[in-house]
Amino acid sequence: MAVTMGEQGGASDVALPAVLGGSPAFPEGLPLTRVQVPDRAELDRRFDAILTSGQLTNGDTVRELEEAAAEFLEVPHVVAVASCTSGLMLVLQAFDVAGHRVAMPSFTFSATAHAAHWAGGLPDFAEVDRETLTLDPALLASVIDAAEGSPPTVKALMATHVYGTPCHVEELDKVAAEWGVPLLYDAAHAFGSRRAGTPIGGFGAAEVFSLSPTKVLAAAEGGLVATRDASLAERIRLGRGYGNPGDYDCLFPGLNARMSELHAALALVSLRTLPERVAHRGALAAAFAARIEGLPGVRLPALADGDTSTWKDLTLIVDPAEFGCDVPALAAALKAEGIDSRRYFHPAVHLQKAYASPPGSWRLPVTEEMAERVLTVPLWSHMDEATILRVADAVTRIQAHSARL
Ligand SMILES: *Cc1c(COP(=O)(O)O)cnc(C)c1O
Repeated sequence: MAVTMGEQGGASDVALPAVLGGSPAFPEGLPLTRVQVPDRAELDRRFDAILTSGQLTNGDTVRELEEAAAEFLEVPHVVAVASCTSGLMLVLQAFDVAGHRVAMPSFTFSATAHAAHWAGGLPDFAEVDRETLTLDPALLASVIDAAEGSPPTVKALMATHVYGTPCHVEELDKVAAEWGVPLLYDAAHAFGSRRAGTPIGGFGAAEVFSLSPTKVLAAAEGGLVATRDASLAERIRLGRGYGNPGDYDCLFPGLNARMSELHAALALVSLRTLPERVAHRGALAAAFAARIEGLPGVRLPALADGDTSTWKDLTLIVDPAEFGCDVPALAAALKAEGIDSRRYFHPAVHLQKAYASPPGSWRLPVTEEMAERVLTVPLWSHMDEATILRVADAVTRIQAHSARL
């Protein structure tokens, strides 16, 4: 399609994006993520052994996974559970949050808040900072101020390592200590992330990982609770099996939150190659960042020097005024290129139907602004660099012609 270029400011030097008639970057389409099962032979061997043994749950494979994960994370205790959500529920139940408030970000996946709700807690949302999109320790005071003097009180603090970016763990520790409440991390994205070299997993009272298919360590479904607290670990072990200590005289109302042996086998095989996957994702993110450097109005979440992210998601933060169009227009233009994208996390949890009433109970201007600005683009562990650069170049073409979108 012939299109006359009328833009000023050098836009005409850059080829047209597909949405304006250029040829699409990925005519065959580029999905947001692709799951790869590493080492099928090893997996088949493990599945065969499990199926032959007849022990499909509560067996050696789950124990082996817990030990391997504890070693990797450099924590004394890891308890495998059915999902990150159920792990968070059990930890929050152990913290006795029922009837009390749980401070957490609203810029997170809905399951963070759902877990508090299922544990009987009242999600209470706080702001993230604009650079990392993780919980802003400096703005947490407003949560406690709002609660002052009037029950229900804040009983726990929960933070999310968003996209694998480590939270401000040192400052959050201080806030939790000041408040006298336990600190829990939704570490769903962060198996393989590091804070100044130390693995995410040992911070706060507990950290809970997800092994669902879109995460970097995957077991089809599953979760891992990591903690330094032996009695908390024991409590989670009981809780994942109904709260039954073995004599059917349940100590508290637990869940069925067990991980099956088959899922544990998947996780073990996936764990073996995790460091290479995390390193490769980091290299792809760096290549992408270098390619879009200087492009107006678009950046990636900031990662502190010395920190490692899993880059569970490659999320663009778009300033519509500088970039030239808003996120929905960018997403539509990417779609024309064949590039899938998602607004992680939009809408913010406090604006979702599940939590939005009574309306206006939370004032979170930073969160609301950032939720309008994020767009996650494709990244997976076996993607090649040429692919991520083609995505970056598509973003560049779209920006150059954004005035016409
Ligand atoms: C995926 C995800 C969860 C839920 O994990 P499940 O294992 O599916 O329960 C929780 N929190 C965040 C931030 C997530 O991305």
